[in-house]
Amino acid sequence: MRPETRLVHGGRPSEGPLSVPVVLTAPYHEEGYAGEEGTPTWEAFEAAIGELEGGGAVAFSSGMAAASAVLEPLPLGARVVGPAVGYTGVRVLLRERAAAGRIELEEVDLTDTEAVLRACEGAALLWAEPLTNPLVGVAELDRLCEGAHAAGAEVVVDATFATPLLLRPLELGADVVMHSATKFIGGHSDLLMGVATGRTAERTDALRHARGLLGATPGALEAFLALRGLRTLAVRLERAQATAMVLAERLAAHPGVSEVHYPGLPSDPGHGRAARLLDGFGAMLAFEVPGGPEAAQALCERVRVVIHATSLGGVETLMERRSRYPQEATPESLLRVSVGLEHVEDLWEDLDAALGSVANGLH
Ligand SMILES: *Cc1c(COP(=O)(O)O)cnc(C)c1O
Repeated sequence: MRPETRLVHGGRPSEGPLSVPVVLTAPYHEEGYAGEEGTPTWEAFEAAIGELEGGGAVAFSSGMAAASAVLEPLPLGARVVGPAVGYTGVRVLLRERAAAGRIELEEVDLTDTEAVLRACEGAALLWAEPLTNPLVGVAELDRLCEGAHAAGAEVVVDATFATPLLLRPLELGADVVMHSATKFIGGHSDLLMGVATGRTAERTDALRHARGLLGATPGALEAFLALRGLRTLAVRLERAQATAMVLAERLAAHPGVSEVHYPGLPSDPGHGRAARLLDGFGAMLAFEVPGGPEAAQALCERVRVVIHATSLGGVETLMERRSRYPQEATPESLLRVSVGLEHVEDLWEDLDAALGSVANGLH
């Protein structure tokens, strides 16, 4: 079955109700506790994701909980290669563990394959984002997996921006793939959840064990909603990335925009890699305006259809200011956009009007 079909049927009971209900329990009769064994609602979600990714999935209370559980078993002093440009929460998690002496951290540009592979020598773990936050750079994941393994490092992939539809990292050799299910998988900006999938049964067991000890267990309602959201991921993503492509092209041609980052644009440095490795260019884009952080802020305040808010992957188009290179504390002049499901022309008219009014107001 193709991924689109798996999305619709994964984790469904074969008799009785078509959908697994919200099962609310902590203990089971005689033996068993949800914190360790899970619940039927989590398991339905896990079955659906596991089938898509090709491994054993474990559901978590958030993406950060999944990330923490992945890092938990690392031995003291393990060398970790992490992103210099990547999701902020995970970067802070890695930095704080390094500052406390728990790991030794080397931050690299994930789009610079040679630099990543040099850093992997003697490392225990490489943490990779195939589509990087917030610059939407493209990592060469197949070569990274191969080279990291040759150097003795395991590979963990945060594929939140790519979703299980654009990329299946376990097929490329990654050891663990994780997602913030809060984003595209849930898809409606109404829940917090995470999921991590191990390539081997030992990996999956270790993730489940860490989940229990960290108390990083999801809520039953969240698991139900995340699976409900997953069912429509293919159509949501198809529409959102088609709109992202149109917006990226028009932004790139707009006199009020200085730079656009979207791997679907043939001129984008990640275009060739994305075309080779991904089944689509995704719904995340970023752009810059000539007026710097002030103009970026003004633009966020002037949009009316696009919502000025953090997070991504929902039905609503969200935009927020970001630093281009967060580790250098550069000004927040980059605008990161998560494209949603509104009509493309409503989004464009909104952005075009806001860009025009900012250009007139500030220059
Ligand atoms: C949001 C996000 C996370 C963290 O997930 P939460 O569910 O918010 O805890 C991790 N990685 C990426 C790329 C994200 O976008």
